[in-house]
Amino acid sequence: MIQNNVSLKNKNWFQTGGSARFFSAPTTVENLLNALSYAQKNKLNIFVLGGGANALISDNGFDGLVIQPQLTKISHEHIDDQHVLVHAGAGVHMPKLISYCLDNNILGLEEFSGTPGTMGGAAYNNMHYFQFSLSDFMVQGTVIERATGKTFDVPAKWFNLGYDSSKLHEKKHILTNLTLKLKKATDLEVAHARGRRKEIIRHRLARYPSAGTCGSFFRNFHPHEVSLEVPGTNKKMIYVAYYLDKVGVKGALNVGDAVVSYQHSNMLVNKGNATSNDLIELARIMQKKVKDEFGITPKQECELVGFKEFPLL
Ligand SMILES: Cc1cc2nc3c(=O)[nH]c(=O)nc-3n(C[C@H](O)[C@H](O)[C@H](O)COP(=O)(O)OP(=O)(O)OC[C@H]3O[C@@H](n4cnc5c(N)ncnc54)[C@H](O)[C@@H]3O)c2cc1C
Repeated sequence: MIQNNVSLKNKNWFQTGGSARFFSAPTTVENLLNALSYAQKNKLNIFVLGGGANALISDNGFDGLVIQPQLTKISHEHIDDQHVLVHAGAGVHMPKLISYCLDNNILGLEEFSGTPGTMGGAAYNNMHYFQFSLSDFMVQGTVIERATGKTFDVPAKWFNLGYDSSKLHEKKHILTNLTLKLKKATDLEVAHARGRRKEIIRHRLARYPSAGTCGSFFRNFHPHEVSLEVPGTNKKMIYVAYYLDKVGVKGALNVGDAVVSYQHSNMLVNKGNATSNDLIELARIMQKKVKDEFGITPKQECELVGFKEFPLL
């Protein structure tokens, strides 16, 4: 169940990075608990990997145990005339869950069409696209407490879901299952939702890169972090892409095969042979440009894995 020296390069969307000293992909909660106790016995650091859609892994890899839960069960139950509870394992990928829902006349998640990653990663950062967040649908989760191996069913409130944040950032728990409250739909409504899914994916492909990237690399600013206001309003300019656009990085900067996308200034792309170090160097240049011009430093949304020292500004 525990493998040695497993390359992580093909397990993340940047397609960069070194190997995990130990690796486990448990298909049951029992196996996940066994992996956890192996790590405890051997005093290993743990990193929980979902689909690797929001992770930049050090070229030196991860000196510990990487656990990639393959808990992939999906089921649903009707709770009233209008609503359905959908239960999904932490290893279920969002595109697969959307298909399951549409096939079973269930609506809501199609708003996340084209967004990769597992339920574990989605809960970790409260997956969001335009006005929708996972927290709009989440009602419950099941987590394992890392220190004790105890399993808890917890309400959505427990996760303290915010913008790009949740209690899972404390790294004290591993999500094993998620319950979402979604809407029952007629065949006609499902046909509309399938069209919407296609349209969202078409729109995304026209606006964002779809491979060799982790999506947005930096998070938006919190209002208290910036002073600039959106002209004609009393709202703060929180969008990090605005500042990156202003310093002219879009499609204009590269370190080796690591480039800033020509489609979106907040997306770094591995064009082929970039290393994680190339991506880090590029990200630092972007941070420095914004800092020099506006006095604020963009902070990463992408999870940095296995770096001995924090590599960004
Ligand atoms: C092309 C592209 C477009 C994107 N667009 C969007 C978008 O529109 N909106 C958006 O919100 N995100 C977007 N992202 C980012 C990414 O899709 C999400 O962050 C996604 O939820 C990551 O899921 P993952 O399973 O790949 O997580 P990973 O990248 O594997 O991990 C991310 C974090 O979640 C933690 N984690 C994973 N599983 C568990 C678990 N079971 N228990 C506890 N912690 C866990 C990891 O430890 C890590 O800290 C995009 C990414 C790409 C590549």
